[in-house]
Amino acid sequence: MKQNIAIIGGGASSLLASIILAKRNFTVEVFEKNPKAGKKLQATGNGKCNITNKNLSLEHFFSNNPSFIKYPITTFGFREFNKFCDEIGLNLVTNENGKTYPASLQASSVVEILYENALFYGVKFNFDSFITDLKFDERIDKFELKTQNGIKKFNKVIIATGSKAMAKLGSSDSGYTLAKQFLHTIIEPLPALVQLTSNNLDIHQLSGVKTEATVTLYINNKATKTVFGDLLFTNYGVSGNTILDLSREVNIALESRFGVDILVDIFPSLDKNKLISLLENKIKNLKDRKIEFLFLSLINTKLIEFIKKKSKISPHKQTLGELDKKDILNIVYALKSIKINIEGSKGFEFGEVVCGGICVDEVETKTMESKKQKGLYFCGEVLDVDGACGGYNLHWAWASAFVLATNMK
Ligand SMILES: Cc1cc2nc3c(=O)[nH]c(=O)nc-3n(C[C@H](O)[C@H](O)[C@H](O)COP(=O)(O)OP(=O)(O)OC[C@H]3O[C@@H](n4cnc5c(N)ncnc54)[C@H](O)[C@@H]3O)c2cc1C
Repeated sequence: MKQNIAIIGGGASSLLASIILAKRNFTVEVFEKNPKAGKKLQATGNGKCNITNKNLSLEHFFSNNPSFIKYPITTFGFREFNKFCDEIGLNLVTNENGKTYPASLQASSVVEILYENALFYGVKFNFDSFITDLKFDERIDKFELKTQNGIKKFNKVIIATGSKAMAKLGSSDSGYTLAKQFLHTIIEPLPALVQLTSNNLDIHQLSGVKTEATVTLYINNKATKTVFGDLLFTNYGVSGNTILDLSREVNIALESRFGVDILVDIFPSLDKNKLISLLENKIKNLKDRKIEFLFLSLINTKLIEFIKKKSKISPHKQTLGELDKKDILNIVYALKSIKINIEGSKGFEFGEVVCGGICVDEVETKTMESKKQKGLYFCGEVLDVDGACGGYNLHWAWASAFVLATNMK
């Protein structure tokens, strides 16, 4: 007789797993608390869905047990994902940074293709179906799932409930509660890929300014990580790709009550000496111009007053010719080292993912089966695995679902 499988959650990882399992002749039933499948998937990549990344090295994925990630990511890499997409009719485009999207640039088309394929292979979907109770009955060797239509029995159950990041998209942390019923350990979930807050009022006044920058994270005054990319100043603190990528380390440090600062270099393309020469040259040619002229076309105009103030140029100096060597060194310092104290983050409500989740030491890396309960499986973000910005979180959802569904006996 065919084995029947319940998948709790109808998001990214669930849809991929359901297609493969149904093709392998399992009877698959999905329980999704929203009225439709893939609500979060539909919001990904600003509606364009950064579905994966061509540069899929392990350094882009994080977990308390990094060795757990290796098998799924190397088994189901970029090439294998492309092959799967070919099979289901999903066309992809990759940009120069390796970021990959559906050719339509519409996340909704990804949801539709996955959902239609699942239906085609016979997956049954139950919507508006929030699962809160799951038990294993040893006498009959089956799971009992409490649904709105009463208790249903299954040979196997997959928890694919995602995380509580951005709960307005319908996600929840109920996967952790269900896993705890089988004595799984939960690594404290914290928001990641999230904007950071600062009470530095000078920074709030720069709200709306976007610039390229190198950002170095300092934890207890020790430099721990440097990233390069976009930085956006906001009326609560900072955002942009650089900040999202640092946010997991920031939240882990803040949770331990460590001091957190970032040091921003808004002129990363030139080192200190080259920047000094550039400024000296400009001053030499434009001696009689007002001081603001030094910054025009060099930095975002909205940053000029801030940098002038930070450089402590005497208000009596009006023209570029009046600036001395000390002023130039101060300007270079202001451009290359804006220190911002970080108080916190915008939290789960704004985080794209969480770091933490079900402890992967208690899960088999080749099958995603629980080591605590035979027949119970996990995939996607509910596990203690998260990725950097750039398509890595969805790739984790795909890869974990693929190895689960391909290796299930
Ligand atoms: C705004 C935003 C943009 C993002 N953009 C990108 C991007 O461009 N690229 C990228 O790689 N990642 C992106 N991510 C992250 C990515 O969306 C997630 O990592 C991914 O969707 C996780 O897949 P999943 O299957 O684990 O969970 P989900 O896709 O969240 O699916 C889980 C599903 O389970 C359902 N559910 C939860 N609990 C229950 C329950 N008890 N009973 C029934 N159903 C339940 C939820 O309603 C949900 O539909 C983004 C996230 C957000 C919030």
